[in-house]
Amino acid sequence: MTQVEGPVWLLVGEKRGNFPFCNGVIIQDGGVTALVDPGCGASVLEPLAASGRVDLVLNSHTHPDHCSGNHFFSGAEIFIPQTAWASGGSKLKLSERLTEPGELARAWREFVTRSMGFEDFQPTGSFAPGQEIKIGSTILEVVPTPGHTADHCCFWLPQHGMLLSADIDLTSFGPFYGHRESSLVQVRSSVEKVRGLRPRVLVSAHRRPLSQDLDQAMDKYLSVLDQREQRILKLLDQEMSLPEMVEASPIYGGHNSRPALTRYWEGRMIADHLDLLKSQGLIQATPKGYLSNAGIVTSP
Ligand SMILES: [Zn+2]
Repeated sequence: MTQVEGPVWLLVGEKRGNFPFCNGVIIQDGGVTALVDPGCGASVLEPLAASGRVDLVLNSHTHPDHCSGNHFFSGAEIFIPQTAWASGGSKLKLSERLTEPGELARAWREFVTRSMGFEDFQPTGSFAPGQEIKIGSTILEVVPTPGHTADHCCFWLPQHGMLLSADIDLTSFGPFYGHRESSLVQVRSSVEKVRGLRPRVLVSAHRRPLSQDLDQAMDKYLSVLDQREQRILKLLDQEMSLPEMVEASPIYGGHNSRPALTRYWEGRMIADHLDLLKSQGLIQATPKGYLSNAGIVTSP
């Protein structure tokens, strides 16, 4: 555990918090200990759970790399976003929400069990947008930031100018928006909402805390979306179907591991870009799929 500042500590996950794990955040104040996003891996979480110190677990959203360790803290309060209440603690329900019922959902359950040790858990409470959660005298304000998932929230610590930004993680991979409930447009607006808070320190789930050049880091993160769009437009110099675009893989750059799942997610993300490009008049639907409008001259 390393201190970020004041009552806030970083709990570095296995693989340094890279997927399929994350970095947790511990807040200790007034004799209360809260743990945000226990997806850090069993070797990190088991000793903490055995200490019996954690009173409250918070999940920024219900992706398994953020809540796979909830079951270690069954004696503590476990709060999830209100919007995730119907599926929150159930591996089966999450698999069908985040993929498609059937073979894909089965592959997802197998993946999160084997790679993350995800187990069902029982949430004991939920939090709503704008709600203030008090850990001792430290205030965490719930900032809804949908797009990545519908339930994604950040936690704003106004007394410290600190944002726990979860999967607005500012990594070089860029944003993920591969579910039915995800939205490319909302990803952009959520990043802008976070920028508007003007955080002094940003603690994401998959990087070390950032306290310098945050605006540039956010610009760089969003520029990944533009790069993906350009690659998609380039593919559509020739008529192409969505499955063909998934195989060309302009977002993941290949489907070597978990291919059924990454093909599905890439398809969802490409489809989001296609919707946007169509609404901007930059591409058109064709009998086979899609085609760029660049270079097509329409008669006056
Ligand atoms: Zn996530």
